[in-house]
Amino acid sequence: MTNYLRCRACDFLAEEGALGDVCPACGLPRTVFEPYPKQISERRRSLAGRHFHPIGVHLPQVLLLGCILLPIPGRFLPAPLGAELLVLAKWSVLLMPFAALLAFITGLVDGRLRFKKLETPLLRSKMRVGAAFLALTVVISVVYLVAGFGTASTWIIVALGLVAGRCAFYLGRTGASMFNCILPG
Ligand SMILES: [Zn+2]
Repeated sequence: MTNYLRCRACDFLAEEGALGDVCPACGLPRTVFEPYPKQISERRRSLAGRHFHPIGVHLPQVLLLGCILLPIPGRFLPAPLGAELLVLAKWSVLLMPFAALLAFITGLVDGRLRFKKLETPLLRSKMRVGAAFLALTVVISVVYLVAGFGTASTWIIVALGLVAGRCAFYLGRTGASMFNCILPG
């Protein structure tokens, strides 16, 4: 087990041996650090520090933006720009369920790593909203596969995309509130 010190000013956690004269995050002198009482195994600390889930959720977020912002201009702008936007929109829509599934799985792994179980109030709520997000991305893909970017289907895809965006906003906000959470052990 490594001993950690915590910056009293900004909450940055540093390994005792690796800390220099100042806090690398806020720049205040080393004297603002205090011992950090939680004992966390090397392996869990290092895995949590890689932030697979917060990094992994960027892909579905980017694809979701593509699915909300591209189809309408794609339909109304003249060729070739409009057609190119629709190709980008198509790939955003079709890849989104896979990206969402990967993000969901990294979320399960990350949640278990930090809290040692998935049945906590916030994780349960995140899993419900995450499952709704995943289901919405599948429905959006199915609408596209059935009707393409048609007159009605384009608006349905964008509307469902906005609902998925509301889910993503909730997931991001609750996730950020737990960014530094980890149980000892
Ligand atoms: Zn600091």
